[in-house]
Amino acid sequence: MVNINLPGKEEHTYDAIVIGSGMSGGWSAKELAENGLNTLLLERGKEVKHIVDYPTTNLLPFELEHRGQVQYDTLAQNPIVGRCYAFREDTEHFFVKDEEHPYVQESPFDWIRGYQTGGRSLLWARQVQRWSDYDFEGPARDGFAVDWPIRYKDVAPWYSHVEKFVGVSGNKDGLDALPDGEFLPAMELTAMEEYFQQTMAREYPDRPVIIGRCAHITGNFEYYAQQGRGGCQNRNLCQRGCPFGGYFSSTSATIPWALKTGNLSIRHHSVVHSIIFDNEKNRATGVRVIDANTKESTEYFARVIFVNAGSMNTNLILLNSTSDRFPNGLGNDNGLLGRYVAFHNYRAGISGEYEGLNEYRTAGRRPNGGYIPRFRNLKRQETDFLRGYAAGLSGHRSIITDRSGVGSELKENLLKPKYGLWRVGSHMMGETIPKASNYVQLDPDLKDPWGIPQLKIHVKYDDNDDKMVADYLEQMQEMFERAGVINIRTRDDHRAPGLDIHEMGGVRMGKDPKTSLLNKWNQLHACPNVFVTDGACMTSTSTQNPSLTYMMFSARAANYAVDELKRMNL
Ligand SMILES: Cc1cc2nc3c(=O)[nH]c(=O)nc-3n(C[C@H](O)[C@H](O)[C@H](O)COP(=O)(O)OP(=O)(O)OC[C@H]3O[C@@H](n4cnc5c(N)ncnc54)[C@H](O)[C@@H]3O)c2cc1C
Ligand code: SF4
Repeated sequence: MVNINLPGKEEHTYDAIVIGSGMSGGWSAKELAENGLNTLLLERGKEVKHIVDYPTTNLLPFELEHRGQVQYDTLAQNPIVGRCYAFREDTEHFFVKDEEHPYVQESPFDWIRGYQTGGRSLLWARQVQRWSDYDFEGPARDGFAVDWPIRYKDVAPWYSHVEKFVGVSGNKDGLDALPDGEFLPAMELTAMEEYFQQTMAREYPDRPVIIGRCAHITGNFEYYAQQGRGGCQNRNLCQRGCPFGGYFSSTSATIPWALKTGNLSIRHHSVVHSIIFDNEKNRATGVRVIDANTKESTEYFARVIFVNAGSMNTNLILLNSTSDRFPNGLGNDNGLLGRYVAFHNYRAGISGEYEGLNEYRTAGRRPNGGYIPRFRNLKRQETDFLRGYAAGLSGHRSIITDRSGVGSELKENLLKPKYGLWRVGSHMMGETIPKASNYVQLDPDLKDPWGIPQLKIHVKYDDNDDKMVADYLEQMQEMFERAGVINIRTRDDHRAPGLDIHEMGGVRMGKDPKTSLLNKWNQLHACPNVFVTDGACMTSTSTQNPSLTYMMFSARAANYAVDELKRMNL
């Protein structure tokens, strides 16, 4: 590649470089900058400024040209992202369009991306749960993947560190599979959800039902005002970007905070091509960047590099970072880079109706739902599949509107909606097992518009996943029936992997450099000044939503890097 890096090297030299400004990169940048490191944040996408770049945030339904629906043409051109439930007329500008960023699907894989300041932290559903040792000890106990190099006690203080800044609403439920955190006041269950909670407590004492733990500000308002964020107003329009900063995103929280230190520079439209490894110095010295618009190539240099491009793109960058020392990708001495990719299994769901509780109804909105933590195979192996699933829960009163008549009669009818039965629903959040046969690699021929090899994805469900789906449907049906739910419908939509948007692994952590890529501080075993703290680092996937754990790893590793720099070890 031609280096047209005209300015002097000094001008392009920083203490630290962070690749990707999303959920995890925002945390790496914040912690590094707060600790005084001159930090460069490289983001391939466009700049999105908090509030000013949320074009739909205050639009009323009738102000959206298609009342929120995505046009048929757009859906036809974007069959992959079009399958994401959050891809709507009011949010589509924050999603990557299929054609603009091609990749190769050896088997179907829906790769949902957001390339902009904040990455997918603008779009997420904000559910945050800590892992427990049922998760960190899972691979060792159940005999799959490799043992995690850490346990819950190693990371608990860092979960607290992140939760306090993020703002997490939830109850201290006292569950050993779902450790409590630093919570702001919890949101409430609806009457139906509460009834379900009580019924389950009686019928299945080991299957607690709780209100979701979500990244919304519901208290301690003065503290969050320092971040320029206010309390959540329950508008439930979060994925448009929240003008109140009521939910956590990198765009509203970590990045503005890091900028305030004066130690952070951000470059948008900067596609990281690869990491530069210096054979003589035996360390990574910087990154090669391609300008997304002009396609010019530039190099930036730093003592430490954090790779936070989102799991799959992090794999791509490392695989593309070849040198004499690492001909198969940076840190890839054991040939395992890109392997043991795993994800969450969101294929199954169940719904039904309930005839009682007619004296209650739901009004207003709630950007959250009920949650049933994993109960299967938790304390002992009780099924013929490994691991388990968590489940979402929702209970809302249906509204029946009479749309008959014209003119004033129609208006009158519309103004008198009637309440129908309670509608109850749940969706499955299953753990998948990381396997060598689920992997990503670089396509030898196909390049993207920036001349970078396209990622080729080979990821499939297996028999374990099918058995888990069957068990979820059977168990949930039984639970619904015991709660007196009627008209029950179940579904396995056989969606492709990836649509859960929790893709993980490929650069897993572990104790042994022969079987893992990263050590317990998220450093590449073979190139310790490169840290990977997004989902690529995950050794296994748990059932919990993963982003809180990525953020925790980012904060923990960034502080470790700062300490190591001070000790002159990096
Ligand atoms: C609709 C939806 C709902 C979700 N709900 C939840 C939830 O409830 N709970 C939860 O935990 N998670 C949820 N997620 C997932 C969550 O958004 C991701 O886990 C999280 O954003 C991943 O963080 P990240 O930093 O790894 O990647 P991202 O947030 O995707 O950020 C990666 C960034 O890197 C940039 N980048 C990529 N490649 C390069 C490159 N070569 N050079 C420079 N920059 C690059 C991208 O543009 C992007 O800004 C949801 C996601 C979506 C879309
Ligand atoms: S529900 Fe809360 S966080 Fe979401 S858009 Fe409304 S105020 Fe913002």
